[in-house]
Amino acid sequence: MEHIHDMVVIGGGPAGYTAALYAARGGLDTVLLERLSAGGQMALTGDIDNYPGFDEGIDGFTLGVRMQHGAERFGARTVNAEVTAVDFSQPVKRIVTTDGVYHARTVVIAAGADPRKLGLDGEQELTGSGVHYCAHCDGRFYKDKTVAVIGGGNSAAADALYLSRLAKKVYMVHRRDALRAERIYREPLYNAENVELVWDSIVTELIADTRLTGIRVKNVKTGEATQLNCDGAFVSIGRVPLTGFLGGSVALDGSGYIIADESTRTSADGVFAAGDIRTKALRQVVTAAADGAVAAHYAEEYISAMGGL
Ligand code: NAP
Repeated sequence: MEHIHDMVVIGGGPAGYTAALYAARGGLDTVLLERLSAGGQMALTGDIDNYPGFDEGIDGFTLGVRMQHGAERFGARTVNAEVTAVDFSQPVKRIVTTDGVYHARTVVIAAGADPRKLGLDGEQELTGSGVHYCAHCDGRFYKDKTVAVIGGGNSAAADALYLSRLAKKVYMVHRRDALRAERIYREPLYNAENVELVWDSIVTELIADTRLTGIRVKNVKTGEATQLNCDGAFVSIGRVPLTGFLGGSVALDGSGYIIADESTRTSADGVFAAGDIRTKALRQVVTAAADGAVAAHYAEEYISAMGGL
C-alpha cells in the first residue's frame, strides 16, 4: 500500500515553505518536493529589504535556508525531486516525480516562475557566457565593464542600479518610452551617471564570438538599428509560471498562471496554488509567504471536511 501524505507541497520558495511550516505545525504529515534548493527565485536575490522582521535586510539565499529549517523544525520533510506529472482527478492525488510517485490528500502548488527569455538565436548557448538572468548572482563578473540590462520593470531597474555600482557603464534597453518600474527606482536610475536609457528599443541580435561582445537593438518607432558593444547582457523581462507539469489538471489564465483567488483554491478540489504561480496583483516574498499560510489553512479545512486525518 502506498503511503498517503496529508499534504504534498510542490516548490521550496517562500510560498512552499510557509505552507509546509503551517501544515506541519498543525499536525499534517507534510512532504515538500523541490527540484533544486530552498528559496526559489528568492534565493537569487541579493538583498531583500522589504520582508518584515529583518531590519538590516537579508540575502535571499539565507532567508530560503532559514524558511526550510523553520518548516523542518515541525516535521515537514524536504525531498529533492522534480515533478513531471500529476493526477488530481481522485480524492487521493498522484504526484509523479523523478524520485517516484507521491500520494496526497491535498496539494499546494508553489512552483513559482522562471525568467522569461528573449527568444533570440544563440541565447541558450551564451547563457553564462555574457547572457545572464540574475544580476545579483553574476554581476560581480562585470566589475568596470560595460553591460546592458533589458527590461523596464522593477526587477530590471533594481538590476540596473545594482550593476551601476559595479560596472563602468550600464545600458538599460526598454521597449517603450516609459518605465514600468515604480518611482522609488526611477529617480536613482535617472540620476546615475553611468546608466544610459535606451528607449523604445528591442534587442534583435546577440553579437558574439566565443562569448557575448554586444547586442543589436532596433528602435521600434524609427526602425533604426544600433549596435551596443557590451561585455554582458542581463535579461530582466519578467517571468513565466512553471505549470508545464500540470498537464491541464487545474485551470490557468491566458498568461499561464493558475487561476486562484485569495483563498488559493484552484479548480481542482483539495489543490491550492500559492505564490508567484497564481493569479495575483503583487508578486513579492511577503505575499508568497502569506499565500502559503492561507493554503495550509484551507487544506486543513478540506481534510477535516473529508473526514479528518
Ligand atoms: P514585470 O513587472 O512584468 O516587468 C517586465 C518588464 O519587461 C516590463 O518592463 C516589460 O515591458 C518588459 N518585457 C516583457 N516582455 C518583454 C520582451 N519580450 N521583450 C522586451 N521587454 C519585455 O516583471 P519584473 O520586473 O520581473 O517584476 C515581477 C514582479 O516582481 C512585479 O510584480 C514587480 O513589481 C515585483 N518586483 C518588486 C520589487 C520590489 O518592489 N522591490 C523588485 C523586483 C520585482 P512593458 O513595460 O512594456 O510591459
